[in-house]
Amino acid sequence: MAATDPVTPGPSAVELLDLHQVYGTGDAAVHALRGITLSIEKGEYVAIMGPSGSGKSTLMNVLGCLDIASHGTYLLAGHDVKEFDENQLAKVRNRELGFIFQSFNLVARMTALGNVELPLVYAGVRRAERRERAAAALEQVGLAHRADHRPQQLSGGQQQRVAIARALVTSPTLILADEPTGNLDSESTEEILQIFDGLAKTGRTIVIITHEEDVAQRSHRVLTISDGLIVTDRPLSDRRMAAAGVQS
Ligand code: ADP
Repeated sequence: MAATDPVTPGPSAVELLDLHQVYGTGDAAVHALRGITLSIEKGEYVAIMGPSGSGKSTLMNVLGCLDIASHGTYLLAGHDVKEFDENQLAKVRNRELGFIFQSFNLVARMTALGNVELPLVYAGVRRAERRERAAAALEQVGLAHRADHRPQQLSGGQQQRVAIARALVTSPTLILADEPTGNLDSESTEEILQIFDGLAKTGRTIVIITHEEDVAQRSHRVLTISDGLIVTDRPLSDRRMAAAGVQS
């Protein structure tokens, strides 16, 4: 059934089982994650909220394969990330994950197009195809006309749209956004949220960390973390069903 069900084609995008992350040892040990169990289906748009120090960044680092959890299992599209060596992890980060940061993290000396092409350069995609795919990703975020601009010639909102295009260009399994609107005014925030709305409608899987309730409300499901544990998991069910094409 699962293979033909349009809502759950194949394995979950993310499956976390009793995930723990401990920094340091002995008396100095910090238990940043204390047993996170969570499934995120393909096409879900999930917001993670929680006070400072609750473990959000730690969880994001694990989801992004930047850190391996000290205990527990993380299956990304059905693959146990613990079984990957450094080389394979680098490939997974490059091809399966799209990162969006609060501070955009664009390369200043490169044009918008060049920035969006970068993940494809690392993936060994040939130049003509790179150009074409990067241009299509810029088009998707409404910035085709700014392809030749460098980051300093763009507004904050435009820079973040370039960063979203860069995250999209490899068609990753999972888009991870860490406070993507944290540095933006309300107008640019709305632009970015509209792009996420559109991505969610086309079935992208998105996890976003945010402090802002308004931002979280745009997602399909809001998780709250406290002290390294998920304390609430709130589906905004109407929107999840709408995204899955279910008529209410
Ligand atoms: P949040 O993103 O919700 O603010 P973090 O994941 O950054 O929370 O931090 C969770 C806990 O883990 C905090 O107590 C923090 O001090 C601790 N922590 C995070 N990273 C490290 C690290 N590299 N070494 C030691 N402790 C860390």
